[in-house]
Amino acid sequence: MRRLRNLKVVATLGPSSDDYDMIRALVEAGADVFRLNMSHGTHDEIARRHGIIRQIEADMRRPIAILADLQGPKLRCGTFANGAEEIEEGQAFRFDLDEAPGDATRVQLPHREIFAALKPGATLLVNDGKLRLTVKSCGPDHADCEVVVGGTISNRKGVNVPDVVLPVAALSDKDRRDLDFVLDLGVDWIALSFVQRPEDVTEARAIVGDRAAILSKIEKPSAVAEFDGILSVSDGIMVARGDLGVEIPVQNVPPIQKRLVRQCRAAAKPVIVATQMLESMIESPMPTRAEVSDVATAIYEGADAVMLSAESAAGQYPIEAVTTMNNVAIEVESDPTYRDIIEASRQANRSTVADGIVAAAREIAETADIKAICCFTESGTTALKTSRERPRVPILALTPSTATGRRLCLSWGINCFFNDKVERFKMAVVSAARAAREGGYGKGEDQIIVVAGLPFNIPGSTNILRVAPCEERLIFNVEPE
Ligand code: PGA
Ligand code: MN
Repeated sequence: MRRLRNLKVVATLGPSSDDYDMIRALVEAGADVFRLNMSHGTHDEIARRHGIIRQIEADMRRPIAILADLQGPKLRCGTFANGAEEIEEGQAFRFDLDEAPGDATRVQLPHREIFAALKPGATLLVNDGKLRLTVKSCGPDHADCEVVVGGTISNRKGVNVPDVVLPVAALSDKDRRDLDFVLDLGVDWIALSFVQRPEDVTEARAIVGDRAAILSKIEKPSAVAEFDGILSVSDGIMVARGDLGVEIPVQNVPPIQKRLVRQCRAAAKPVIVATQMLESMIESPMPTRAEVSDVATAIYEGADAVMLSAESAAGQYPIEAVTTMNNVAIEVESDPTYRDIIEASRQANRSTVADGIVAAAREIAETADIKAICCFTESGTTALKTSRERPRVPILALTPSTATGRRLCLSWGINCFFNDKVERFKMAVVSAARAAREGGYGKGEDQIIVVAGLPFNIPGSTNILRVAPCEERLIFNVEPE
């Protein structure tokens, strides 16, 4: 099954996408990466979904990436005796450490370190910013607030404190338990929520090692301020617009999105644009025009991937939502204006032989009729550098590493094929031609580009480029023994 677009689609799994048939249908509709949200679902549910994805991967014989999204130090209030309360503008409301069920005047906020960091005048936002309170006075175990924007507050709703750099660890106890669990399952990517500083990433890296790649979610003002440092220690980035748009004024999100996407591409690291992309499709089979435009904008900006959250996890139309993203991507990518934008924003950020080789591959593919650029990649770096070039022809990444093949599913334009280790370049060309033929990219005298590093199986040695036909007999005819 060949994708007709370069953009990747990330779909979050949940109650609406919980069995083999539905998850497989999502892959067929266009999902390339599945996100397991550790904020919801038990370990049993997560393990079951993980197992189903791996089964589908084996049955469909194509790599699928699994992204485990850790909850992070997301603050939540406690519960209410009545489940929910209405609070009104102007009234007083208290957050404290008392476990007793809340009422219309108070509720627990079970995070002692928050009270230590709060100051009078600070803003507290509840339920994705729908409710707003100002701190009037506070102590080590409570904050007395005035409601500025009222509404319904209910059990375990999220609380944001945008004005304060929180003195909290990047990984909560729950995150550590979840992290051990998903690393044992064998997920490909770990997403870190509410990253505030580069050290939050290095702290997680010390636990993760090379067992998974790490993606930092940018959803705090401090993460935006420290983005360069965070990017340099992360393997990928998510523009997490949900919380970001609560923590900073919403109108600041689009320019930040543009800047982050550009910087990630320059660094050859995948970037996901996430949240509320097709929000109305939770309840409607048709997206709004504005949502379609939002997805298109992310693609025109050069994002590697777009993401569905509740649309695929808890909505009524998961397949329609994936199909919409697929269709928008196909249309945008065939627009000549898209090509103009992508080429104009290509940065001359090249310093290695590998950078030069993949740039040459792209250049040749633009000059002659080439069906695909095939790269042999052990660690994935050569494939990522090829992806950064945003070539006009498909990229086939051939790798002996299951982990690399799966991780690369998140990156723009990369189609992964597992391949036995090769010892000689001629065998690499033969394998690449076979992948191109079997994947439907080319046949007979159609030409492909093969990029590799000699000697083989030494990461970072990319140093050879060959233009070859797709048919094996033709390769052998021209290739000396
Ligand atoms: P979440 O992250 O869905 O885990 O909150 C994404 C976002 O905040 O946009
Ligand atoms: Mn978030």
